[in-house]
Amino acid sequence: MPVSDSVSRPDTDADGDRLPINELFASLQGEGKLAGVPSTFVRTSGCNLRCWFCDSYHTSWEPTHAWMGVEEVVAEVDALAPEHVVVTGGEPLVHDETATLLSELADEYHLTVETNGTLETDAPVDLASISPKLASSTPTPENAPTDTDPGVWTDKHESARIDLDSLASLVDHADDFQLKFVVTGRDDLPEIESLVDDIRGVTSREVRDSDVLLMPEGQTRDALARTRTDVADLAAEFGYRYTPRLHVDLWNDAPET
Ligand code: SF4
Repeated sequence: MPVSDSVSRPDTDADGDRLPINELFASLQGEGKLAGVPSTFVRTSGCNLRCWFCDSYHTSWEPTHAWMGVEEVVAEVDALAPEHVVVTGGEPLVHDETATLLSELADEYHLTVETNGTLETDAPVDLASISPKLASSTPTPENAPTDTDPGVWTDKHESARIDLDSLASLVDHADDFQLKFVVTGRDDLPEIESLVDDIRGVTSREVRDSDVLLMPEGQTRDALARTRTDVADLAAEFGYRYTPRLHVDLWNDAPET
């Protein structure tokens, strides 16, 4: 997977809270309710899970980043002058400093946080883009990136990938939310239906079928071409929403998109 030039920027010696930043760039949101909206992306490095299909390999299996002060991140975001900011990863909520960043940005920007749903936050969030990881995401020796050892992560990932309390908290806390599932095939649907029912049982908020998004697995145009029609058909059949991966359609797997 390509590595962005921005990950090779030198660490800074800024005082105060710092974050490991993998990428910081302006593009179009590619996924979810805000697909197509111009946005600035702040991609933190580090994740508590290891999906075999991770589309940000350099934040999880092989984390790469520079350390930046929160105020430096804010200054770079300001320079790009977006209306929408997407804080993503990796898993951005593994870093306490992400809450500081969100609080610093909240007055000026619409904030989307892209999270795997295993951690909570009290920080301001306009759209919680929650992507619970299904059993089909668990790494095995057969499907994991070839230059890494998935053995350590198979059990760790499987035991950590669903935290119902965190999912309920995220749904309840944000101004808006979406449950975005990476779908590898029809076999994922029973787990999605069961999990959506479980979330409905623990949140005080209505979870509409239109808040549930099915997104095809695939990090390249060729891979997406093999999965998207089937996943769109499943969305239509089950009454959920389909989300494209516009950035893959437009720019394939180029960095900073
Ligand atoms: S949760 Fe997201 S960032 Fe973490 S390994 Fe899975 S796809 Fe990658």
